[in-house]
Amino acid sequence: MKVLYVTDLHGVKWKYEKILEIAKELQVKAVVNGGDMLPKNNDLFIQDKFISQYLNDYFYRFNSDKIHYLCYLGNDDLKIFDKLFDDICSKYPFIHHLAQRKCKIGGYEFIGMNWIVDCPFRLKDRCRMDTDDYIFQDQLGTALLSTCNGWNEIGNWFNYAKTLPTIEEELNQLVFPNNMKKSVYVIHMPPSKLGLDRCYDGMEVGSNAIYNFFKKHQPKLSLHGHIHESPDVTKKWYAKLGNTICIQPGQLHDLTYVLIDLSTDMKFDRVIYQNTK
Ligand SMILES: [Zn+2]
Repeated sequence: MKVLYVTDLHGVKWKYEKILEIAKELQVKAVVNGGDMLPKNNDLFIQDKFISQYLNDYFYRFNSDKIHYLCYLGNDDLKIFDKLFDDICSKYPFIHHLAQRKCKIGGYEFIGMNWIVDCPFRLKDRCRMDTDDYIFQDQLGTALLSTCNGWNEIGNWFNYAKTLPTIEEELNQLVFPNNMKKSVYVIHMPPSKLGLDRCYDGMEVGSNAIYNFFKKHQPKLSLHGHIHESPDVTKKWYAKLGNTICIQPGQLHDLTYVLIDLSTDMKFDRVIYQNTK
């Protein structure tokens, strides 16, 4: 089964359009989008327009072409728009909202999760401590949560975060696949220790909880994003963890995506399409 994986498009329309073009040309069964789907260069509170206008039409076109599209929002996409996003996805049988859900396509079970380990940035809508003993990074300002009436500033974020489930707990609460050997985890946050999580400053920010979960349960494949520059820094865009293949293609100026054939001897290839605009 042919799958195209792309992540961190951040509302860049020419990248979205190119992905649909390639998906049709190569006749892939499904496109998986690993999150951070909405524009973040303007006011984040107008991200809903991108969902109800551009994505609504984009999903309509995938649905018409009978190509499955599995997706969820990411840490730079405001959580107050989850319901709208879910409603738009629900209009089309071929569009699957994968956040904290499972979806079975062609005998493979896809399980999504879009919580991330806390980072220095102020927007905290989807942030969690990794494990109970997580040590926070230095913060770039007070914490912000989106509400329908604007930002809710959190006075003591570290205390607040301790009241939330950890990434470890969130993973254990996810729906479990019937067959791990034919399961694909789509998790915006990359695992630690595999070279898929390094920032330009050299910091390795991946999740130990996700690493340990895969080590223990051994799914067939995992798909990640979030640290756009990591493959450029480490020269690694995939890694093996036991029998699990973990892929983190990154996303910079050019369009980066991965073509995957999920059949028994899995093949996968990373493609960088040069931006000529
Ligand atoms: Zn991103």
